Amino acid sequence: MRYSEMFLPTGRETPSDAEVISHQLMLRAGMIRKLTSGIYSYLPLGYRVIKKVEQIVREEMDRAGAQEVFMPAVQPAEIWMESGRWKMYGKELLRFKDRNNREFCIGPTHEEVITEIVRNEIQTYRQLPKNLYQIQTKFRDEIRPRFGVMRCREFGMKDAYSFDVDERGAEISYGKMFEAYTRIFSRCGLQFRPVEADTGSIGGSFSHEFLVTADSGEDGMVYCTSCDYAANLEKAEIDRPEKYEVEESELLPVEEVYTPDVRTIEEVCQFLDVTARDVVKTLIFVADDSPIAVLIRGDVEVNEIKLRNYLGCDSLELATDDIVFEVTSSPKGFAGGIGIKSDIIADYSLINMKNFVMGANKENYHVKNCNMERDFAVKDFADVRMIEETDTCPRCDSPIKFARGIEVGHVFKLGTKYSKAMKATFLDKDGKDKYMIMGCYGIGIGRTAAACIEQNHDNDGIIWPLSIAPYHVIITPVNINDEKIATVAEKLYADLEKRGVEVILDDRDERAGVKFKDADLIGIPLRITLGSKKLSEGKVEVKFRKSKDVDEVALYNVEDFIVKTVHEGLGER
Ligand SMILES: [Zn+2]
Repeated sequence: MRYSEMFLPTGRETPSDAEVISHQLMLRAGMIRKLTSGIYSYLPLGYRVIKKVEQIVREEMDRAGAQEVFMPAVQPAEIWMESGRWKMYGKELLRFKDRNNREFCIGPTHEEVITEIVRNEIQTYRQLPKNLYQIQTKFRDEIRPRFGVMRCREFGMKDAYSFDVDERGAEISYGKMFEAYTRIFSRCGLQFRPVEADTGSIGGSFSHEFLVTADSGEDGMVYCTSCDYAANLEKAEIDRPEKYEVEESELLPVEEVYTPDVRTIEEVCQFLDVTARDVVKTLIFVADDSPIAVLIRGDVEVNEIKLRNYLGCDSLELATDDIVFEVTSSPKGFAGGIGIKSDIIADYSLINMKNFVMGANKENYHVKNCNMERDFAVKDFADVRMIEETDTCPRCDSPIKFARGIEVGHVFKLGTKYSKAMKATFLDKDGKDKYMIMGCYGIGIGRTAAACIEQNHDNDGIIWPLSIAPYHVIITPVNINDEKIATVAEKLYADLEKRGVEVILDDRDERAGVKFKDADLIGIPLRITLGSKKLSEGKVEVKFRKSKDVDEVALYNVEDFIVKTVHEGLGER
């Protein structure tokens, strides 16, 4: 492509409304333009990157045995009512009515549509397993779209759905997708980690998020410094409490203390001259309309996702002041285990605590020297706290580390959630009707491109890996009005294109500095500079965008040099 003919509106200024680097650079490099909140157009340079990511996804999905389909973006309400999600999904589902007053939505995901197709066409175990995928536009009405195409409302996504006869088959399908994802993100040049993720009400350990490591990432992860364990912070398990040594200490008599207006853990610690590890926090939640007290050590936090999964409830909220008063007979800040009018769940952090401080369920009072069993009963112990960086790996006890990441993919074993709700059954070998076991697997296409920029950029702009670069090479004639330079540039441009290299010829009548700046900004991996001095020596310069290395290459050899470098960079497959 000739630069002079390209639609490539680049900019020098950092756009003021772009918070993250990928958003800034995608705007400055002329890749995307915003139409309205959370809705973007891809311009030619950006769309070339998108198509390359899609192509890698396609190749690896096909290689893993999945077959491509294309489903409608507009979906009737009926199938969503069947699955039970018409009510559950909330405001992220964009709903509307057609001229006949029938209700529809724009698909944020396609479990209902694919299940509807498969239940009608698949009758027996002989037709299974199947894995169907599509690359398609989705719409989720995010409350706060931000970070450009990273968290937008309309976005391109690859979504795949597997159907199996039994659990073992479903695990094999899951494993194939896990491997395909690993290849996809490696080929896109990303540093990533598959981390265990929350499975919500479906349960089990079969959900992984693929997180691209980046400080700007919205997801927190924890990983082990010695084994493979890695998990989303919300999911991370805490090392089993049985390992802790029991402290042998004498149980002291309970003592009520007057603590006027002392409510927070800090205030309690200061007032009673104790540490947060000596205090038990009592939080009152309402789980599906029933109040429940959660007791946890003062220096750690409750993980509401773990708590919700443990309780198996649909809704979980901190109790209002009125409910706190009903349950504790006191205003907020003085709740404790003794005499509370609700069940108590104690976090594992309490197991070996003795003679601790706790609220007295009485305004302006706390109690010292509390002890479980002797002073109050606990319904159950559970792991309901957030992991801390001082914890150790739940698998091997080694030190752990925290990091941030961008979720680019998610693999999820759905089980029979949708096949049961929508009656997707098949006739098994034994002549019985059974529900298909499903899995779903997503990849954010635009987000993958944006995540790549988050990991690959410098002060001058984007640094694309060859695999998803919009073009492999840019030829930069220092002076296009120099006849000799122009002739060499035209010939090299034509020859490289003939050999399948994707080339931009910067044929603009601009200063060399301007051309170099644009080439760096849009992140083309290789730049061939044609200057009169070097050309008179029969040489050209090849600059590598990533390493900033400059190789002097003989003019007669530059074509082969570039072809070889591109092929090596793309990898033999
Ligand atoms: Zn470990």
